[in-house]
This record gives sequence, C-alpha cells and structure tokens, in this order.
Amino acid sequence: MPSNDGVPGARPFRVLIIGGSYGGLSTALTLVDLSRGRIPRFSYDRTIAPPAHRIPVQITVVDERDGFFHLIGSPKALACEKFAGETWTRFQEIPALKSPHINFVQGSVSSVDFTTKTAQIDETSTKATRSETYDYLVVSSGLRRTFPTVPQSLQRSDFLAEASDNVQDIQKASEGVVVVGGGAVGVEMAAELKILYPQQKITLIHSRSRLLSSEPLPDDFAEQVDSILREVGVETILGQRVVETTAADGADGQRVWCLTLSDGRQLTTGHVLNAISRCIPTSTYLPSKALDKEGYVKIRPSLQFSGEVPNAEHHWCVGDLAAWPGIKRCGGAMHMGHYAGHNLYEHMTTATVGSKPDFKELSPFPNVIGLALGKKAVCWTPDEGTKHGEELMDSLFGKDMGNSICRNYMQFSEPCPS
Ligand SMILES: Cc1cc2nc3c(=O)[nH]c(=O)nc-3n(C[C@H](O)[C@H](O)[C@H](O)COP(=O)(O)OP(=O)(O)OC[C@H]3O[C@@H](n4cnc5c(N)ncnc54)[C@H](O)[C@@H]3O)c2cc1C
Repeated sequence: MPSNDGVPGARPFRVLIIGGSYGGLSTALTLVDLSRGRIPRFSYDRTIAPPAHRIPVQITVVDERDGFFHLIGSPKALACEKFAGETWTRFQEIPALKSPHINFVQGSVSSVDFTTKTAQIDETSTKATRSETYDYLVVSSGLRRTFPTVPQSLQRSDFLAEASDNVQDIQKASEGVVVVGGGAVGVEMAAELKILYPQQKITLIHSRSRLLSSEPLPDDFAEQVDSILREVGVETILGQRVVETTAADGADGQRVWCLTLSDGRQLTTGHVLNAISRCIPTSTYLPSKALDKEGYVKIRPSLQFSGEVPNAEHHWCVGDLAAWPGIKRCGGAMHMGHYAGHNLYEHMTTATVGSKPDFKELSPFPNVIGLALGKKAVCWTPDEGTKHGEELMDSLFGKDMGNSICRNYMQFSEPCPS
C-alpha cells in the first residue's frame, strides 16, 4: 500500500476490479471522478465541495467479456439483431473509460490470494495465466446465468452471431415458440417475442399457478403481468411442468419439439426457450470464509468484506454478488458502485493524509421491481403497490429497455476527466 501519496512521483494506488458491468464500472467512474478532484457523477447533490485531495489511482478492470453488455436488454437483444448491436460496446469504445488511469484486461479471474493481494487471471488473448497484484480489490462479477437468459459469448462479434442464430430459430419456428418459465426473465422474453414477431405463436409455460411465483411480490402484481401478456397475445399455461421434450420432424420437414406437460397434455412447437435456469454466484475464485452458504460475499454496509479473511478492509464487493437484502437490480449495483468508489477514495485519503474516513453506508434495498412487457411496464414498490402502463414504460425503460438510461446515468459518452 503506498503511504506517501500526495508526494510527486509516488506510486498510484492499484485498484483491481473484477467485472466491468453496472457495479464495477460505477465504482471505477466514481473513483476516477474523486481522484481527479471532481464531485462524483452519481452524486445528486451538486452543491457539495469537490474533494480536497487528488489521489493517484491506477485501475485495472478484468472481465470475461470484451465490453459492456446491457444485461437488462437481454430478452430483446437475443431476439432482435438491430437492438443487439446497441447493447454491447467494447470497453475501448466507451469515451468515459478512455483514460490513462483505467486499463482493461479480458480474462477470467481464477483465484485471489488475500494475504499477498494477488489475483490470478486466465487471460483471453494470451491463453496464459497472469498474476495481478493490487492494493484494493473490488469484486463485482455478479451471477452466472445460462442462455437464453443471457448470451454466452464473450466477444461482441460472437454475441452478434449468437443473437442472429436465435433470431433465425425464432423466425423459422413454423409451429410457434414456447418459453418455459414464468419468472422475471421468462415473462419479459415472451412479451418481447410477441411484439417483435406478432405473427408468431408465443406460449409461456409456468409450473406454478401464479407467474413470478418465486419473487416476494403480491398476487395483484403477478395478475397484472398475466393480463398484459394475454393482451399482447401471449398464451400462458400455468400450473404445468414440462416433463418431456422430444425432437420430431414437422410437416414441412423442419425439426419440431413435442412437449409433454405434467397433466399429460402434449403440444408441438418449433422452438423452445428455457428461462428457468438458476443464477449461480461467480464467487468460486474467493475463499469460502468470505462467502455465505449460497456463495454470496458477506459485506459490511461500507461494502468491505466482512468475512474472516486477511486484509478484509482492502477488499470490497458490489452488485449482485454481495449478500445484501432486497431484490437484486442494476440500479442497486450502480448505487453500490457509487458508494464503494466514494469509500475507496476515503480509505486512500486516510492512508495518504491521515484524515478520518467519512464512509457512506448502504441501507437494505426495498423489494422493488420493474418489468418491461413489450410496450407496457409493470412495477411494484412497497409505497405505491402495483402500477402499469405505457407511460411507466417510458419513465422506467425509455424506448430501449433502459439501455440509454443506464449509459446516460454512468455518463458513458462524456470524456474521462483529466
Ligand atoms: C434478463 C435480465 C433482465 C433484468 N432486468 C432488470 C431490470 O429490468 N431492472 C433491474 O434493475 N435489473 C434487472 N436485471 C438484474 C440486473 O441485470 C443485475 O442486477 C445487474 O446486472 C447486476 O450488475 P453487476 O455489475 O453486479 O453484475 P453483472 O451485470 O452480472 O456483471 C458481472 C460481470 O462480471 C464478469 N465476470 C463474471 N465472472 C468473472 C470472472 N471470474 N472474471 C472476470 N470477469 C467476470 C461478467 O462477464 C460480467 O460482465 C435483469 C437481469 C437479467 C438477467
């Protein structure tokens, strides 16, 4: 840890961020703002005094992907080639990240030694493992999800091909498309498919009698979602599990799928999209003492690790991977990134000039949810209950499933402060 910063020529603080998505990039951008003497871009109060100390930082972001992918837009991106291209931007093409203080490594972190503060990265370009030492580590690698919930490609060009293949499967499915699983992803996917391909028969099958059955949300929210899906033209089958799926030849020679439901009913479809996979924490590279039983990182309200690990105060976690109450959302991940960036800066200032750190502390997130269902959104908040409509869609997601809202919030198109 550099202790003499502020002295010309001192070594910058090295910050390693694992995961360059909403949480990781918000941390990096906040830290860059503060270390360059600016009020953080995420601060609502623009009247506060700018930070007193410029702190030299060198940030390395490591990600398996070669760019930022707007995950929220996934249900549409994988079904629409034009939209897919808008949702994935290579890191080096994002103006806010073009800085001598930020560099990117494409690769996968396989282990971290908390004592020596060293991470092992399986680098994509060299196919070799490289060691990266750091002063501070920010873990923001989220949850592992399968296709078609999220794309599996790691390069933008492969992602466009993956989306294109899925689009072709949807378009040539002469006997319609079945989406299995009526959770948040399944309902958004079914609605998007019907809007994009109105002539195509879209069926959503869910094992429970209520959609979104695993979310801590009231019945009227689920009923509203069901009603909008039916209004859009999606057929919903509730209370039925798909017990068998077999391939067959359709009348026109195309391959079709025969699904058997738990009540013995059979239906034939041209394409099946499985939206029931569980999300798994990506924390396999971390020591088990840092994790709870499910594999989420135990944190303090300051976002520092709280498990019994060496140098816990130099290790931080933001976003979906953190064990923190409330529904996991990208807004929460960006908020955590803001707080972590602020607290990192405070920690560095303390180490540099000996001031008392003024940490921001996270409160539990309320169970808030917003879903994009084609042209309408549905949301639920503890204060206002269930709301829905086209205006709500505009305010929550804009015209592009929140892509512009998130990018503008992170100020991606603004050049990095010098
Ligand atoms: C289909 C879908 C729809 C959603 N809709 C909404 C919505 O409408 N509103 C909302 O608020 N939230 C929504 N969410 C949730 C939201 O996307 C997440 O809360 C958010 O992505 C969390 O951000 P994050 O930065 O923590 O992690 P992620 O966005 O998951 O990013 C993690 C990053 O880490 C990288 N990574 C993983 N493992 C490693 C490793 N070992 N080494 C290096 N890099 C690694 C990944 O490549 C990825 O870029 C949705 C999620 C899905 C899947």
